[in-house]
Amino acid sequence: MRFHLAVAAVAVAGFLAVPDGSTTQLVWQVACGWYAAAAIAVGIRHWRPVLPAAWWLFAIGVAGNASGILVEDVLTRTGVGVGFPSWADAAYLSLYPAAAAGLLLLIRRRTPHRDWSSLVDATTLTTGMGLLAWVFMVKPAASDPSIGLLGHIVSVAYPVGDIVLLAMTVRLMLGGAARNVSFRLLCAALVCFLAGDGAWAVINQMAWEPGPSAHKVLADVFLAGYLLFAAAAVHPDVRSLSSAVGPRAARLSRPLLTALTVASLIGPALLIMQVVRGEVTDALAIALGCAALFLLVVTRMSQLITQLDVQTERVRELAVTDELTGLPNRRAWNTELPRTLERVRRTGDPLAVAIIDIDHFKSFNDAYGHLAGDRLLKEAAAAWQDQLRTADHLARFGGEEFVVMLPDATAAQARDIVDRMRRATPLGQTFSAGIAVWDGTETADEITARADAALYGAKNAGRDRIHDAALHTAAPHSATEKVAEPTAQ
Ligand code: GH3
Ligand code: MG
Ligand code: MG
Repeated sequence: MRFHLAVAAVAVAGFLAVPDGSTTQLVWQVACGWYAAAAIAVGIRHWRPVLPAAWWLFAIGVAGNASGILVEDVLTRTGVGVGFPSWADAAYLSLYPAAAAGLLLLIRRRTPHRDWSSLVDATTLTTGMGLLAWVFMVKPAASDPSIGLLGHIVSVAYPVGDIVLLAMTVRLMLGGAARNVSFRLLCAALVCFLAGDGAWAVINQMAWEPGPSAHKVLADVFLAGYLLFAAAAVHPDVRSLSSAVGPRAARLSRPLLTALTVASLIGPALLIMQVVRGEVTDALAIALGCAALFLLVVTRMSQLITQLDVQTERVRELAVTDELTGLPNRRAWNTELPRTLERVRRTGDPLAVAIIDIDHFKSFNDAYGHLAGDRLLKEAAAAWQDQLRTADHLARFGGEEFVVMLPDATAAQARDIVDRMRRATPLGQTFSAGIAVWDGTETADEITARADAALYGAKNAGRDRIHDAALHTAAPHSATEKVAEPTAQ
């Protein structure tokens, strides 16, 4: 890796010192490309990345692209001439399908599950840039009468190749979370190629003939692209670059949001520009582009809304659930009890409320540890729940205190059910409970206070028993059992 970095630094910096138009310059460029392809091959052999095919494709693309420089020179020197298109274009263009295929393999491996939001984002950015490329590059190239059909195809292939590469690059950058060194180097390489091509597109558009030094700097950007590709392959991180990553939350970071906004405004900006110039030549393309971008933005919006709904539901669930036992918590109880009271007020059905408190739980904690105490709470909640009817409602009130709502239960039935629960308490533990049967008028707070007072009585009477709030009887343990007997299993 260090060796490669040294070579790359010398190659990129040294290129600027090589005389313009010299054979050295040519050899330098081709050698950089071939060296980079060879380095990728070495990286594949040495690190054995998960997806060697992708890296072989990159090596082929880099070698092919660099060979284009040689082919162009040979054609010029042998006098065959470099008409357009020539074999040099075939070599230059080979980078696009090779790199795109390699990237496709990487993206598919890195995100095995569909990542719709980053797909929509990548499509939005690409559509915006594609519209720009269409107006400034594809359409002029396709309508140039001097180059024949093959010439049209080839000259359109460059911007189309760039757009495809841009789409893949954005998709790669947006998807997944494994951003190791190799990943960053690969992205940097792609950005170099895209920036170089973008700069050329702008230069051509402005009909400006760049001087030799500008030529050289631009050529150097491509050399940096070759060598960054190679750096990505020789870095040890290349092994894990293609490992799958979890789905990315559909977050919209500020830079991404800015990029999406800019991409969406490209259409209107183009139209304004053409109107100001007094010649609207691409109304249809711009209208279609804007429509596509609008639909993409709406799609993204609906994705975010769906995500928000899912998260809201999750938060709502968390807010009313006790984490340890999975039972409804006090907040849930505080909404549920008044609602049920409201209902039975209308229907006239009976309703009983019980408060349960584990006996000597502090001693249990002290003896077996807090974690064992937690386990007891969890197991007790599950065991009690098993003794309840479907309509009954058990909740954790806090600490080792629980509450049960027993609809349609008379005092005797409620006592039976709560006694079944008492006997189902795991690990040889016991509880005390107070039961209040709704008197037909009292509020949630009042019935709870009555049940609590009954629980207090049960504790004072020696624990491991159930007291009825209405009767206020200090029933001993055996008496409680007797009452429960008819329905006990
Ligand atoms: P009593 O029979 O009078 O109810 O005695 P007790 O020890 O059960 O009651 P006390 O109120 O003195 O102690 C309750 C203990 O419950 C104290 C507290 O540390 C423990 N506790 C509360 N919440 C939790 C919890 O979530 N996990 C565990 N492990 N302990 C808890
Ligand atoms: Mg207790
Ligand atoms: Mg307590």
